[in-house]
Amino acid sequence: MNRPTGKGTKGINTLLTHSGYNPRDYHGFVNPPVVHGSTVLFPDARTMKARNQRYTYGTRGTPTSDALAAAVNELEGSAGTIIVPSGLAAITVPLLGFLSAGDHALFVDTIYFPTRRFADTMLRRLGVEVEYYDPEIGAEILDLLKPNTKLIFTESPGSNTFEMQDIPAITAIAREAGIITMLDNTWATPVYFKPLDYGVDISIHAATKYPAGHSDVLLGTVSANEACWETLWESYLTLGTCAGPDDVYQVLRGLRTMGVRLERHQATAFEVARWLEGQSGVARVLHPGLESHPGHAIWKRDFSGASGLFSIVLEGGEKQAHAFLDALEIFGLGASWGGYECLAAQVSLADRTVSARNYGGEIIRLQIGLEDAADIIADLAGALEAAASA
Ligand SMILES: *Cc1c(COP(=O)(O)O)cnc(C)c1O
Repeated sequence: MNRPTGKGTKGINTLLTHSGYNPRDYHGFVNPPVVHGSTVLFPDARTMKARNQRYTYGTRGTPTSDALAAAVNELEGSAGTIIVPSGLAAITVPLLGFLSAGDHALFVDTIYFPTRRFADTMLRRLGVEVEYYDPEIGAEILDLLKPNTKLIFTESPGSNTFEMQDIPAITAIAREAGIITMLDNTWATPVYFKPLDYGVDISIHAATKYPAGHSDVLLGTVSANEACWETLWESYLTLGTCAGPDDVYQVLRGLRTMGVRLERHQATAFEVARWLEGQSGVARVLHPGLESHPGHAIWKRDFSGASGLFSIVLEGGEKQAHAFLDALEIFGLGASWGGYECLAAQVSLADRTVSARNYGGEIIRLQIGLEDAADIIADLAGALEAAASA
């Protein structure tokens, strides 16, 4: 079988369907085996001493983890990918691997909150100088660089409020100064944005979200370019953060259908977001794919699509927000996203520092699932009515 290489002209759905595993490698079975294993036996003492065979120990990779890592490499265009037990581990492992005491690290202020908590507690305790920057900074990030700046950590669009960042402007400056850039690409997935093509060194995913796709698996992937791969791999081995084979397998399984799921998430989310823009009680819709969004031009320039997660600013206070959430029937109230079902959550922006602003109401984040758009809209209409009469 001819395997797509990721370098040619193959379309994204062909890559999602076939990448990472050649059925001929395991008796023709379409999917790879789920290998449960710690010990790997060597045929003789000399081979054991030299570790001179493909697999040597469970923490260093299995046919199952190799299949997922190879698939993600083809999607991201990366030199290597590590697979870790959660999306948060996909953030902490590379940060621990690349930062040292005395380094200065810049984080976008609209970061996923647990990333901030890790930076503000563990990284600071280990002697890293942590600083936050405004997501709309663009090339002016140059003014924040210091002689000891080692790393810039980004996430675009921003968590919960979806500010778009000028990634090529930031990475051009970082490259020039020898600074490593990492990007949490969970929202877009490699289907809609490929960070390494825009100069980012390390692309991070909570595979828990769209790759897994069913709210039943926690997993993270970290993909590096050639220059950063060796350090990333060594950090992973040093920390021992390997993932369980069943979870790895489930994410590879999820990738096969991620393209069609995302198309549906995207289409329904656009329909719902446009409808919400015209509703009274909704002060603003924060979705970078809408013309009204301040980051729309950047989204259009760099991204090939939008996933199913966006926010609304609901007029009123917490009373109205809770009436809205409590009236929802299709939407579940809960954290995370990327699964097949609609979710809603009230969002706190209390952690913001340099980009703190008043959005003029309560922020409600919506994950648009695979349900029928008409039912989703009817559910939201009922919730808006409940908020209006609260
Ligand atoms: C959910 C999420 C993570 C963390 O993923 P977990 O698997 O839940 O640890 C990281 N980054 C972003 C942007 C996320 O949404």
